[in-house]
Amino acid sequence: MRESIMPCYAPPEVLFTSGDGCYLYADNGDRYSDFSSGIAVNALGHAHPKLVNALREAAGGIWHLSNMFRVDSGEQLANKLTEQTFADRVFFANSGAEANECGLKAIRRYHYDNGRPERYRIIGMSGSFHGRTIATVGASGNPSYTKGFIPTDYGFDQVPFGDIDALKAMIGEHTAGIILEPVQGEGGIKVADPEYLKAVRALCDEHDLVLMFDEVQCGFGRSGSLYAYQTLGVTPDILSSAKGLGGGFPIGACLTNEKIGKHMVIGTHGSTFGGNPLATTVGNVMLDTVSDEAFLTHVRKMSDYLRSELTELSKRVPEVYGEVSGMGLMLGIKVTPENTELLVKMRDEQQVLVVKAGGNSLRFLPPLIVDKAEIDALIKALESVAK
Ligand SMILES: *Cc1c(COP(=O)(O)O)cnc(C)c1O
Repeated sequence: MRESIMPCYAPPEVLFTSGDGCYLYADNGDRYSDFSSGIAVNALGHAHPKLVNALREAAGGIWHLSNMFRVDSGEQLANKLTEQTFADRVFFANSGAEANECGLKAIRRYHYDNGRPERYRIIGMSGSFHGRTIATVGASGNPSYTKGFIPTDYGFDQVPFGDIDALKAMIGEHTAGIILEPVQGEGGIKVADPEYLKAVRALCDEHDLVLMFDEVQCGFGRSGSLYAYQTLGVTPDILSSAKGLGGGFPIGACLTNEKIGKHMVIGTHGSTFGGNPLATTVGNVMLDTVSDEAFLTHVRKMSDYLRSELTELSKRVPEVYGEVSGMGLMLGIKVTPENTELLVKMRDEQQVLVVKAGGNSLRFLPPLIVDKAEIDALIKALESVAK
């Protein structure tokens, strides 16, 4: 009964009706191991008791106030986010694309307010993904997302990810800022070289450009630190967060330093639902859980284990599996047959859910609570489908 859904997606027949931790259950009772987490969203897995209880309790209170009024849970979450990051200001949105929209607007507003309205162009990276709104597809510039939607120039330029000379050459009198993912997701799990990021930061400082990191996918514990920039050692002016931040409840956040945030004054931006009590209540539980040092240590341990098991697998079955890349529990592996074919086999024959990524690779984005048993089963399944 899906004829009434706009045909943007092509889901398989299986219908999931419940979940528990790292597992999803179909309506016929079949159990699937979830190495997709709804694309890096269910960071605490499915039906985590802490989240279920927090949301149940919040559901008996105020669902919505609008930003005409103070939201206590929102203030708490913003305070914690600023305490734990470079940021001084937070804007709450409902998704990754919306968090990016806020950041992209803030980049332009900074220059506009400083008497340089001609500085409006924003440089994005090849292979990037920033969401599906008009501005975010423009920023990524990927033709498969812009085709039919961006008729002419939309104020964004693109350069190859990781190429500092190309970036230098692209900076001109109209350039306002740079947006990049410290770890590219859709593009094929590519971690930015810290030296490259340092050079990007230096270019931004030299030309007074605003540096924005999109950590919608790699952020919120997935990289092994709360945000990937903290491990990579380069601090942006703006950071977007979503996906894992809500653990499955829709929420996005745009974090900025004071230099940028102070320009987003009354009337410049807004959202009806952004920062609502339900979303920010869940966000608080997520942040308290994920930012705990013992939790992040677990993420790093499981990352090391998964990475070494994948590397061993690619040595055992080099005809099918190649280079392993990524950071934390955002790991990818190059595959030789068509990645869709492997993904379907993994799902239908092995009941393990994985995600595709660019460069004909598979992506592994398990709940951050994943354990060795699930990883062992994943590796066994990958080995079986290769035969
Ligand atoms: C998923 C994603 C987005 C878009 O988030 P939505 O919630 O789908 O709007 C933006 N940037 C990155 C890096 C993502 O992975």
